[in-house]
Amino acid sequence: MKVGLVNYYLRLKDYPTRYSLATLRLGEYLNSCNIDVELYPIPLDVNQYTEIVNDLNNKFDIIAISHYVWSVNSTKRLVDEIMKQNSCKKIIIGGPEVRYIDVNEYKNVYFISGEGEEALVNLIKYIEDGEIDINFFKKNRNIFNDKNNQYCCESNELKYKNPLFTKFKNIDKSFLYYETSRGCAYNCGYCGFNNRKTVANFDLAFVEEEIKRIGQQNFKEVFVVDANFGGTKERAKIIMQYFNKYAPEAILTIYLRPEFIDDEFIGILKLANIKEIRIGIQTINKNIPSWVRSNSIYHIVKELPKLSKNNIPWKAELIIGLPGDNLNGLKESIDFVENILNPTEFCCYPLTVIKSTKMYELVNKTKDNMWIKVDENYMAYESNSYTHEELIEMQQYAINRMNNYLEKCYNKSDKLIKQKKNNVIKKTIE
Ligand code: SF4
Repeated sequence: MKVGLVNYYLRLKDYPTRYSLATLRLGEYLNSCNIDVELYPIPLDVNQYTEIVNDLNNKFDIIAISHYVWSVNSTKRLVDEIMKQNSCKKIIIGGPEVRYIDVNEYKNVYFISGEGEEALVNLIKYIEDGEIDINFFKKNRNIFNDKNNQYCCESNELKYKNPLFTKFKNIDKSFLYYETSRGCAYNCGYCGFNNRKTVANFDLAFVEEEIKRIGQQNFKEVFVVDANFGGTKERAKIIMQYFNKYAPEAILTIYLRPEFIDDEFIGILKLANIKEIRIGIQTINKNIPSWVRSNSIYHIVKELPKLSKNNIPWKAELIIGLPGDNLNGLKESIDFVENILNPTEFCCYPLTVIKSTKMYELVNKTKDNMWIKVDENYMAYESNSYTHEELIEMQQYAINRMNNYLEKCYNKSDKLIKQKKNNVIKKTIE
């Protein structure tokens, strides 16, 4: 049976690749298990699925779809269209958003929650064998459908055999999403990055081989999506040295916690081809409890100015709309970022309250001291510490401060400011 792995892509101008890391990894894993598989990226914003679905139905016996919060509507439309054309087609949906899916809206569709590699191989074999194993769902607890909808994610183990670019080499070379670990050891109250109980790291020799291939394939830009680059402080240094040695031309974007930075790492970062290090400060407002912020002001103050002093490009990230914050708190956080940390750039993102987070437990609890209300897109709307009008004022204030800072830092390049200003506004309003 031939399997098509579908992923969506959007914003090609900012992230110029059609291929998701999830489907690249799954594709390599299926191929290493001798399953006939192709990747099938589709744009998220298509109006008409008929032609795409026609092609999918003709090419593949099994269609597996990678499903995220931004594809809630697209996946439903895609599945409905596939079923309309061929009601017997085997469809599998995996990805983080599967936890929130209403299975009753998807008859005869299989779902995989959590790590997908091994489960997907088992499910494909089950389908190939005629779906007759009556113990299949008991043996594969993270697979479910509308008739067998009791599931749990038991395994946090990473499954991988072949490195990236073993089968799938012919992909967009301008940009690559990459990972060296999964999960996060921290626990910020607003963060949705909690679909794993523990951090799992790819074996260092495996990472080294993949970074060699990234260099050989001449990828222009690599966005490492690890919650914190490398997963641990020591691995971060080793992996950055791999990039410096094997893929020095690739421009890197990474996420880091200040706790990962020390003088030795600064020395390695100075030699690296960094486009941007993104570091979450979120807020320094003490009225916001530490379970929300989970940041270490000590490490922030001690380590981050060193990045600036050494001309290592980094972006401080703040959040607008945390319950407990207000315009004064926001001003204080921005002053701190500008005056003490002096990053290359800073950005204030509006708060999205994600289901399954501790923050979500505050939604509409208006009788408690701390509460928040959200709009239909789960964006913060008002809270115990600000009205909706004050939130809008905070957003406008943040936009002005971000743009003023950009003008101050980039006053020699009008074009760059314009580009970055547009970005700031887009990200803040979205
Ligand atoms: S915000 Fe970053 S550090 Fe905090 S839990 Fe999420 S991924 Fe981890």
